[in-house]
Amino acid sequence: MLSVTRSDTEQVQCLVIDSCGFDAAALVDRLEQNRCNVQLCSFDQASDKLEQGDLKLIFLHTCFTDTNALSELHFLRQQYPLIPVILFDHQFNSDRIDEFMLWRANDVIITSELTDETLKRVIRYNLMVGQYNSEITRLNQLDPLTGMKNRQQFYKQLAQKLKLIRNGKTSTHLALISVDLDGFRQFNNINGYSAGDIIVKEMSQRLAALIPGQLSRLGNDEFVLLLESPVEENLTHQATQLCYQILHSLTEPYLYNELENILPCSIGVALAPEHSCEIDTLVHQATQARVKAKETSSCSYVIFDQKQRHSDESQVAIEPELISAIRRNEFELFYQPRVDITSGKIIGAEGLVRWRHPEKGLIFPDAFIPTAERTGLIVPIGYWVIQQAGEDIQKLQASGLEIERLSINLSFRQFQDSYLCRTIQRLIEKYSIDTSILEFELTESALFNNELHVREGIEELHKLGINFSLDDFGTGYSSFSLLQTLPISSLKIDRSFVSGVSKNPDDREIVKAIIRLAHSLNKEVIAEGVETALQLNFLASFGCHQAQGYLYSKPVPYEEFKELLKNGYQITAETAVNQ
Ligand code: C2E
Ligand code: CA
Ligand code: CA
Repeated sequence: MLSVTRSDTEQVQCLVIDSCGFDAAALVDRLEQNRCNVQLCSFDQASDKLEQGDLKLIFLHTCFTDTNALSELHFLRQQYPLIPVILFDHQFNSDRIDEFMLWRANDVIITSELTDETLKRVIRYNLMVGQYNSEITRLNQLDPLTGMKNRQQFYKQLAQKLKLIRNGKTSTHLALISVDLDGFRQFNNINGYSAGDIIVKEMSQRLAALIPGQLSRLGNDEFVLLLESPVEENLTHQATQLCYQILHSLTEPYLYNELENILPCSIGVALAPEHSCEIDTLVHQATQARVKAKETSSCSYVIFDQKQRHSDESQVAIEPELISAIRRNEFELFYQPRVDITSGKIIGAEGLVRWRHPEKGLIFPDAFIPTAERTGLIVPIGYWVIQQAGEDIQKLQASGLEIERLSINLSFRQFQDSYLCRTIQRLIEKYSIDTSILEFELTESALFNNELHVREGIEELHKLGINFSLDDFGTGYSSFSLLQTLPISSLKIDRSFVSGVSKNPDDREIVKAIIRLAHSLNKEVIAEGVETALQLNFLASFGCHQAQGYLYSKPVPYEEFKELLKNGYQITAETAVNQ
């Protein structure tokens, strides 16, 4: 339980901001008499003061008659959300007070009526609010089971560190160490999830003891540790040492049900900047290395090897072939229906690209999109996709078939093309594309760094009437403010969570939370990868709007999709159960 108890000598650090020539001296005096240590400044100086000191309360006076008041209040609440802001003036009318409260002022003081008792209460109450804010923030950053940092916090911190490395602002090198247990799923299946929880807790304590403060839990039994060092050679050596310690510590038996259970573990390591400075790539490399370790032998570690990627035959080999595939027009756009869960009606589709290779046959995007992204070839491929989607929308409309939405995937790399918006605009005009039908699916990582050009690109495209959705939602890190400020109209729940709803309580909770979040942000929510009636029923019962997945249809060529639309293909939660 939080309480605000101050020792006799403890002072409350306060900032009094007066941006409108009010005589704040009287308030400053009274605050000082109430054991506050006060700094007085203008609004322009406020950020410096707030960055420097451990300030607990902000008292703000501004020209309350104009909109400045709201923008200053908004700025303080956005930038320093943990510190309560108390407005003060000789007088306020009650409508204005309501308006300020809506803009998240924490309190209001009318100085002409202020008694000592009221001032004391205001200080006490707002200190408590500040403490609650800090506590809530702390809890939001932690994994409830283990008390370690959660996935969001990990992504946030890693992104900050990688940005410093990328921009040459630090000489620090980073090792990302990914750890999980072998046979954890089986242990869970045999002993139940609460037994699994005991093991995960124990595992987190053992890992945290090796490198305090640097451990995060990404999910189930998957943990990551960050090791930092100023010198590269040292880092590889230190990472190796740490891997040995982890192996030693985690292979000690876990006591459960008075039995000693031995659960081997696997470790993968990726280094920044050596392997990558991109968050998703680095995490993926550490995971790949861990998978390799698991394949090699139990209780082992593998450091990611760049050659390992390049020896992954298709990756390098396909690059020149991809160039000629673009020239020879070897791509095809398949469509996977998007279905309204309640009515069972197909409301549109997601366009998914395929490569019809002259010798190798149909190649799926996972085999060439990563190379296309790495080499920048995704830019022309992406244009081809938009153009094809535009032609197909036109053809559908010409044959009297209506769709509400057609989404296509837009990769982060495409925003680096400075012609993106202009080219898309040209394509829209050329194919008379109805932009209210068009939707671009972005991944969270595309938004993650909040790069200005990505924001601007999205906003510009939105002005053309294009909709945006967040793909693979839940797997990355999304800041709420970005979700609220960018024109994103829907969230797509990642397939991995949908596939887990029937057996994994964590996945069920995540899916429910995403649906709730979408509802409260007034966004559409779409589940992808729906394969069973059970999953569909679960989604329907929590109010998920749309679904996509093999239960309805695999991605199919245009002609087949057209047939599905013509037949008015319908499947609902109820009919699905009876299948
Ligand atoms: P995504 O955007 O997450 O697309 C969904 C993937 O899940 C598709 O794989 C789809 O075939 C598959 N899927 C859909 N329903 C089910 C299901 O019920 N069960 C299972 N197991 N899988 C299902 P696909 O077509 O192989 O595409 C893979 C990824 O490639 C896509 O993931 C997307 O990230 C990327 N991609 C595809 N087309 C494009 C494109 O035109 N541009 C870009 N930048 N990326 C693309
Ligand atoms: Ca997608
Ligand atoms: Ca997806």
